[in-house]
Amino acid sequence: MATCGECNAELPDDRTCAAYFHQALAWDFEDPVVAGSVHHLTVLCFHLQHPGLYSREGLEHAKGLLVEFLENGTTPDMIRRSEARNVQNDRRDWPVTARDSTSGKYRCPPKWTMTVKDVIAGGLECYPTSVKTWARSVFEALKESGNI
Ligand SMILES: [Zn+2]
Repeated sequence: MATCGECNAELPDDRTCAAYFHQALAWDFEDPVVAGSVHHLTVLCFHLQHPGLYSREGLEHAKGLLVEFLENGTTPDMIRRSEARNVQNDRRDWPVTARDSTSGKYRCPPKWTMTVKDVIAGGLECYPTSVKTWARSVFEALKESGNI
């Protein structure tokens, strides 16, 4: 069985984490009210568990967003409004996604207890709850490993 090099999920049948992630995005799209309500957490958690997709600065920004969503009760709308405001004065001068040698990496790799594969295994019925549990587990793993 293959193992994901980033989140350590065991991957049967050569299915990749990206394939599970695309399944989640399909559910978000098919059911925008219920499944789509956790879309921001799905995207964030998938990338936080695959930090090589981010630049170093992008990873720091993403960790901050997770804290905002889970600890401070900030909504995606509030983030969008404040980022739109910031674009006027304080233009972001760093790339979000990884380029060559600048990809995001954790100093001490977190021990993930749940991955996108587990979320998909829970099925569409449980998807919003599974994503919230997943987001909490990502937050706890980042905290325990000293990354936030
Ligand atoms: Zn993975």
